[in-house]
Amino acid sequence: MSRAPRRPALLALVAAVAGTVATIGQPGGRPPDVVLVVVDTLRADRLGVYGNERGLTPFLDGLARRSIVFANAYATTTWTNPSIASLFTSRYASELRVTGFDSKVPSDAVTLAEALHRHGYVTAGFCGNDRLTAQLGFAQGFDVWLAPQLLRKIDGSHLTRKSVQALDRLRRARPGAPLFLYVHYMDPHSPYEPPPPYRARFARPGPDAAAANAKVQHWDWGSISEAEVDVLSSLYDGEVAYVDAALAHLFAELAARRILDEAVVIVTADHGEEFREHGFLSHGANLYNTTLHVPAMMLAPGYAARSVADGVSLLDLGPTVLDLLHLPPEPTFEGRSLVPMLAGRSEPRDVLAELAKSNVLTQHASALVRDGVKVMARRQPQWMVGRVEVYDLAHDPGETSPLPSERFPALLRRLRAQKSALATRALLPGERAPLDEEQRRKLRALGYVN
Ligand SMILES: [Zn+2]
Repeated sequence: MSRAPRRPALLALVAAVAGTVATIGQPGGRPPDVVLVVVDTLRADRLGVYGNERGLTPFLDGLARRSIVFANAYATTTWTNPSIASLFTSRYASELRVTGFDSKVPSDAVTLAEALHRHGYVTAGFCGNDRLTAQLGFAQGFDVWLAPQLLRKIDGSHLTRKSVQALDRLRRARPGAPLFLYVHYMDPHSPYEPPPPYRARFARPGPDAAAANAKVQHWDWGSISEAEVDVLSSLYDGEVAYVDAALAHLFAELAARRILDEAVVIVTADHGEEFREHGFLSHGANLYNTTLHVPAMMLAPGYAARSVADGVSLLDLGPTVLDLLHLPPEPTFEGRSLVPMLAGRSEPRDVLAELAKSNVLTQHASALVRDGVKVMARRQPQWMVGRVEVYDLAHDPGETSPLPSERFPALLRRLRAQKSALATRALLPGERAPLDEEQRRKLRALGYVN
């Protein structure tokens, strides 16, 4: 990919000599573009850079070699609407009261797109997940928000093509304006149906895939055999490989338009996916790392590639972007700027996550990660054994051997304190936009039955 410097050669030389000194937003210069890519349902452990050995993500692994890679990045929750609402506003979904499919991002919550728009950015969102509608407030701050209305999930190659076409139209209409581009891919979300070449390369032999996919769609989880789970997991791998190729295409198109020359680029996911590692399928049922740990990588001009071990939250991305652009912090954002970490400083903090949704399948209410140890509070102690679970993630990344919680009184206190502080910050009242029958039909097509 071409990354010819836009700034004069002398400045580039000065920057090179100065090492990792930030060179973003030179006084009087054009502000850098910002590209934020979310891949729905992408588990961190499916990327080579996060240790996967199936060769699913050659493009993302190449990007990671040039990026700041956050080895321990967490979503604030494990299903789409609240996770994206949280990412956009740098606030927790329980505060926003985005807890259901019909919950609206409150109109008085400030989004990253709004903050950038205020500073002259042209803002475009191309979203393959059609549950993130303007009606539900997800378009807040975007000049253009495209969430294609398809019954099936949108294909990544199609999304790349449509995004690039819409982007070209927008840039012709607003030449010279700095760009905030959001693209949201959907391929790894169920049903897992990678195109034939990816199926041929990555699907393992086993029971009928269509029948297994149908059972996932209808939440008929109890009847899915272990062999079917294995086939589904391998088909998911095929979808991950396919979306990696779609991302390669998107980035090639952006590079050809010189958008990546000086841009802040972030690639992450809204949550992962579970293949019965903890008894469930899909996502949104618990806060185990299969669904909570997300990939996160960032290109920021002037900052060298590195891996950051400190735990970080998707809540932190908005404040980081504003800080990188030397824009004033948005007072309602609750995450922290990660810029010190981009420069190599370690600043361990609590990382809090929650599952504000409440239904019979919801296993955890909240989780806190600190210094590689994770505590999770269960939602329904009356039918689950034990009220909390504690795991040492460094030695037990699969979260299979819970530690005695009495050994971690300080961690439990921190979780309780963080949760009660969060409860005091909830916005009142929540807003809803009732779903119509067509929207319900689409939800059912994606495997959400209600
Ligand atoms: Zn999602």
